[in-house]
Amino acid sequence: MTLRAQPKASHFIDGEFVEDEAGSVIESIYPATGEVIARLHAATPAIVEKAIASAKRAQPEWAAMSPTARGRILKRAADLIRERNRELSELETLDTGKPIQETIIADPTSGADSFEFFGGIAAAGLNGSYIPLGGDFAYTKRVPLGVCVGIGAWNYPQQIACWKGAPALAAGNAMVFKPSENTPLGALAIAEILHEAGLPKGLYNVIQGDRETGPLLVNHPDVAKVSLTGSVPTGRKVAAAAAGSLKHVTMELGGKSPLIVFEDADIDSAVGGAMLGNFYSTGQVCSNGTRVFVQRKIKAEFLKRLKARTEAIAIGDPMDEATQLGPMVSWAQRDKVLSYIAKGKAEGATLVTGGGIPNNVSGEGYYVQPTVFADVTDEMTIAREEIFGPVMCVLDFDDEAEVIARGNATEFGLSAGVFTSDLTRGHRVVDQLEAGTLWINTYNLCPVEIPFGGSKQSGFGRENSLAALEHYSELKTVYVGMGPVQAPY
Ligand code: NAD
Repeated sequence: MTLRAQPKASHFIDGEFVEDEAGSVIESIYPATGEVIARLHAATPAIVEKAIASAKRAQPEWAAMSPTARGRILKRAADLIRERNRELSELETLDTGKPIQETIIADPTSGADSFEFFGGIAAAGLNGSYIPLGGDFAYTKRVPLGVCVGIGAWNYPQQIACWKGAPALAAGNAMVFKPSENTPLGALAIAEILHEAGLPKGLYNVIQGDRETGPLLVNHPDVAKVSLTGSVPTGRKVAAAAAGSLKHVTMELGGKSPLIVFEDADIDSAVGGAMLGNFYSTGQVCSNGTRVFVQRKIKAEFLKRLKARTEAIAIGDPMDEATQLGPMVSWAQRDKVLSYIAKGKAEGATLVTGGGIPNNVSGEGYYVQPTVFADVTDEMTIAREEIFGPVMCVLDFDDEAEVIARGNATEFGLSAGVFTSDLTRGHRVVDQLEAGTLWINTYNLCPVEIPFGGSKQSGFGRENSLAALEHYSELKTVYVGMGPVQAPY
């Protein structure tokens, strides 16, 4: 058997690839064929210690550099990522099964954007302030936290590795990153590129592992911050563990976001937005608008166009540039999605299209048809729980106040969207929706310039934008006395 994506070793620590075969085996499987493409080992406690010790050792000197000098290295990494976009995109496709049509425009490139943005703003974004106090004065400094841990999900392995690494490094921290056990490959390539760009060794370490490994990082006394991208149940565990030693945390968790289509919307744009917000990355996107509320008057037309466009989606070999929808990341995720589809049928939703396994693909791949349910009601399981697959639920509504209340009736609060040609209504509605990231007349666009993150059970903290720098640093305030001390004794 060929291991066609085998990295040089499982971990990248202190500027080099490191192996420890004592760790349990992690098989990297290409989701389109079920083929084992790499075999790695989970980090042993010794590997975890080595990674954290190397980060701890390297961080002070990095923090002492000027932000411009740090930024220069990050921008060089951005250039290298762009130069190698094709090979990194192919690796991302092998890691995740996402079609090359997507990875080539969305994955390494968004990672490069992140290094370019944070490399560029490091110098200006970390300034403090001067506070006059009438003779005396104070000033603030933004200082790094120290060793930060990033823990990734499997849907955007390279992007997540960059979205956490870039602001952490720009702010003067070191990072130890653990990718998902389902997608161990991409972060190693990012680590290698960062060091080629001139990053001093020890500042960006990657170790492999699963839910057993994560706690070794989260509980470690030398770690100052944990940033997790994952599910709500994992978020609760990680936040609770981090609270034990009062670590800083950023939680990028799941969602069940509402996407509201009013009757005055441009229907083709709304259908396009709903499809992007449910089928991109085979539906494995945390911010997806999986509850599509459509105003009753346009329901029939919306569903007609949605069905035609969904049935025209090209499903197949992810390495074929014509393919628009690839497999799920794993057999387990495929089974989970199929079980939700079965629940949708059993609970009385109307299956508009899809609902099974496509017949034009290898039976060994983890494929699911893009699926649309209509007549979904708020109580149905498929309207309440995060499916994380290509399953769109269309719900009917009549008026604005009703749809806002129903849109908010969820424990999640990651994202929300509104399609309408009435701009006043658009702003009024998003103002009342409980979510961290919202869109009007588009969906799921997350450029590095804008903050991204959730509210309610979808998490806290923000990635991207200047806000992310704040989450990877803290304020130090210095009061300067300019006269004699007035003591009452
Ligand atoms: P998951 O929660 O199963 O795993 C996420 C990561 O946490 C993995 O690396 C896993 O090994 C690690 N982990 C698991 N248990 C841990 C523990 N006790 N301590 C430390 N680490 C632990 O999530 P997943 O299945 O990989 O990803 C899908 C989920 O991620 C979905 O819920 C999705 O919505 C969410 N997600 C959120 C965002 C966002 O930015 N908000 C982005 C992508 C995915």
